[in-house]
Amino acid sequence: MTRPIYLDAHATTPVDDRVLQKMLPFFTEYFGNPGSLHAYGWEVEAALRQAREMLAGAIGATPEEIIFTSGATEANNLAIKGVAEAYFAKGRHLITVQTEHSAILDPCRYLESLGFEVTYLPVQPDGLLDLDKLEQAIRSDTVLVSVMAANNEIGVLQPLNQIGAICQQHQVLFHTDAAQAIGKIPLDVEAMQIDLMSLTAHKIYGPKGIGALYVRRRQPRVQLAAQLHGGGQERGLRSGTLYPPQIVGFAEAVQLALAERETESQRIQQLRDRLWQQLQEVGGIYLNGHSDRRLPGNLNISVEGVDGQALLLGIQPFAAVSSGSACASAKTTPSHVLSALGRSPELAHASIRFGIGRFNTEAEIDRVAAGVAATVKALRNTRPAL
Ligand SMILES: *Cc1c(COP(=O)(O)O)cnc(C)c1O
Repeated sequence: MTRPIYLDAHATTPVDDRVLQKMLPFFTEYFGNPGSLHAYGWEVEAALRQAREMLAGAIGATPEEIIFTSGATEANNLAIKGVAEAYFAKGRHLITVQTEHSAILDPCRYLESLGFEVTYLPVQPDGLLDLDKLEQAIRSDTVLVSVMAANNEIGVLQPLNQIGAICQQHQVLFHTDAAQAIGKIPLDVEAMQIDLMSLTAHKIYGPKGIGALYVRRRQPRVQLAAQLHGGGQERGLRSGTLYPPQIVGFAEAVQLALAERETESQRIQQLRDRLWQQLQEVGGIYLNGHSDRRLPGNLNISVEGVDGQALLLGIQPFAAVSSGSACASAKTTPSHVLSALGRSPELAHASIRFGIGRFNTEAEIDRVAAGVAATVKALRNTRPAL
């Protein structure tokens, strides 16, 4: 049996072979603990310093501002719980957005259970945040605003520059979950006035299980309460022996993504537009999220007149896609992101997220477009009378 065409780049991506080759020596030859005070430790420590410098440079930060974590989930938890705990005496109010990833929403709900207050801002029908609403939500006891850079379901890019300026003006810390954005859109913590930023490697052809939290050290120096205590690694903010192969692979993945970003995003966007053009010909198919303020490889559609479950089952044999978020696909409630856009439960259920990536080809896109069109037509024809 041949596997379906992979079009789920927002869920994860394969490790690029160039990344793998960089990682391999760190499993066997350079295996030392980077904290050890001997040659085996020093050689690994030197490689990690280089990786840290590379990653910091990619977002306009300094190496000391990078805290390695197991991924964006952990980085988000550290940012949200760590800031809430450290600024407890100053205020207990946080602001985020209804369309955030569960790795933001769940830590926020957890904080609410401890007595913190959280405002979950709505979005406009195109998925963009209303900046007036953000400004109105800021209170004297607000300590953190967390708004994602790029949405994992609909690919919508929030206006980080303007959000950063508003937070700066009101002296509130600004965190952004950039798991889907790093390597795909320009990110600069200085220009965008970002105080904390979560990153991960596995959405950009790096390994799973590695990410980072950027934590601003100057103007202002962000206070953070550690959530993992132990050996005091990462300036005491995240204990645990560092994972050199993953860190080296993470840096290489980011470096490749940046070096190839212009040509790759152009090519991927052309594939995305080609897919959308062919699907539109079917009729009764709607785009979810803003038409151009979105990631180049993202296409999220709702299909009228079909059952969501049947649609996904029909597509799965020839294309690996998600219905809503990968993390939510096991649930039967419609995607919280599409609901926040104002989509009806039926259209939210009957939605497909395509994530086009580095290794997809035009021929694959044409095959998937034809397959989806045939599936939708078949389902509409066989739909039992209600
Ligand atoms: C994938 C993703 C995460 C989770 O990242 P992990 O590294 O898998 O923990 C968090 N936020 C967003 C927006 C994501 O797309």
